[in-house]
Amino acid sequence: GEKLDTGLQKTKKTWSERWNAFMANFRSVDEDFFDDLEETLIGADVGAQTALQLTDELRDEVKLQNAKSKQEISEVIIDKLVDLYRSQGVNEDASMHFAPEGPTVILLVGVNGVGKTTTIGKLSAYYKRAGKKVVLAAADTFRAGATEQLVAWGERNDIPVVTGSSKADPASVVFDGVKTAIDTQADILFVDTAGRLQNNVNLMQELSKMKRIITRELPNEPQEVLLTLDATTGQNAVQQAKLFKDSTDVTGIVLTKLDGTAKGGIVLPIRNELHLPVKWVGLGEKVTDIQPFEANDFAKSLFG
Ligand code: GDP
Repeated sequence: GEKLDTGLQKTKKTWSERWNAFMANFRSVDEDFFDDLEETLIGADVGAQTALQLTDELRDEVKLQNAKSKQEISEVIIDKLVDLYRSQGVNEDASMHFAPEGPTVILLVGVNGVGKTTTIGKLSAYYKRAGKKVVLAAADTFRAGATEQLVAWGERNDIPVVTGSSKADPASVVFDGVKTAIDTQADILFVDTAGRLQNNVNLMQELSKMKRIITRELPNEPQEVLLTLDATTGQNAVQQAKLFKDSTDVTGIVLTKLDGTAKGGIVLPIRNELHLPVKWVGLGEKVTDIQPFEANDFAKSLFG
């Protein structure tokens, strides 16, 4: 898509600059070559573990295909990278899950500032356009302004927002949100949560309390716990994902701010090392700047 191409421009530019610089130095396929390749991959935010794995696989592949010339080597490597982006999609479920009956609850988790509230604004409009009845719950009662921000998104999209007082127990807002969703026969309830990560135990307790309330009032667990990650933070985002994955059952990733960064390469370690499907990508601040993640399109935009 055009929006994805535009959103990935910075990543693509940096990636091709690094790549061209690397290949400009090409002399022959020796151990130095593979060391430099590994470093180039790390520089492209692929992460150390994934870069090492890729380099090992490429060493085998180059031998297997008996690639020698600059052109041949370049083709083998790009094919392999595109493959890695794509093949992840085969074993993962990047689709959104909906409750067979009653409202579907979608929790957004992640540290402050990654774009949870904005993502709910975008996703709620997306599903409203698709004909779904949507309700929002402002359970981030911790960050000043979070509730007002969500209410503003609700007004803009004409979607009801359930709020609590500042510093109210987030679980009570979730409770009110679930009640409203049931009473108004809504299809989807989006829950904005606070992103405190200083204390893993607190986070875990707060999230499990919310989930307990949801499962008490509705027949199912929340259908989605979407971890929002800010792509501009690169490897930090991967670290955050590890912590959240240990604290709660994350069902998928929303990768935001891809438009503002050259670090789009972090899609690979997120999927390759954490085995979490990227379900959505954020490509700007406007309501329509969000897209379902599609591995093929992503690879095509980067290498096409
Ligand atoms: P929260 O604390 O996780 O709820 O984060 P917010 O939703 O308040 O977002 C923090 C900032 O990031 C805001 O200025 C948003 O406009 C901005 N933002 C969120 N998503 C995107 C995105 O995909 N692209 C860009 N460029 N900015 C974004």
